[in-house]
Amino acid sequence: MSEKKPFLYTLFFAAASLAAIFIILSLAFSFRSLIEKRKSSSSLPASTNSARMTIVIDAGHGGEDGGAVADDGTLEKDLNLQISKLLCALYELNGVPVRMTRETDTMLYDHYGDLEDYKGQKKLYDLTNRIKIAEEYENPVYIGIHMNKFPQKKYSGLTVYYSKNNQDSYLLAASVHDFNKMYLQPGNRREIKCADSSIFILDNIKCPSVLVECGFVSNDEELALLKDEKYQCKLALVLFSSSMAFYS
Ligand SMILES: [Zn+2]
Repeated sequence: MSEKKPFLYTLFFAAASLAAIFIILSLAFSFRSLIEKRKSSSSLPASTNSARMTIVIDAGHGGEDGGAVADDGTLEKDLNLQISKLLCALYELNGVPVRMTRETDTMLYDHYGDLEDYKGQKKLYDLTNRIKIAEEYENPVYIGIHMNKFPQKKYSGLTVYYSKNNQDSYLLAASVHDFNKMYLQPGNRREIKCADSSIFILDNIKCPSVLVECGFVSNDEELALLKDEKYQCKLALVLFSSSMAFYS
């Protein structure tokens, strides 16, 4: 009961905040000119597919893979899932096709139940299956949700990575980055980053894809925000609004 109530409250808060989305979306027209400008300066191959998308939300890590661990014991996998569920609810409320790679605390190495031996390769199968799940859908758009961690506590702020394999990845990342600066973190000076081979999913996936490091669990102030349901809602709203503004 103590888990259900806060979640429902948070959902209610998210629903009430939809009014804010309409205001944000009304700015989408002016925002499009910025996107057009970015488009014309990009040398990546263009996407020509305009059919309806399915958003695939991938809450990073899960199960025995906790991801980054904060000083107070908070696990990245749990924050990732909480924010992913809120984000998923926003798409559902607006009738946008959406799927989550995981809705529970689990790794996905045996998602398809067809593995005989995954010894020592759990992480590889887990990541490969997340790509497979995303690509099961027609016109998928992949949004990976993660947290950052650094030895020095001073670093904070949302960072967006994009896949080099599709021009829309960069444009979606730019949309998330710009909306975040406009509505959540005006002081964020982080750059949008092209993922290298160290980010397996973005390096191998073919559909429009971004990975959002929502903040640093190593920064005490940001960790407190990331654990706060209202802030999680705001993050989800930024991700939802920026993706909708771009694809509307
Ligand atoms: Zn992670």
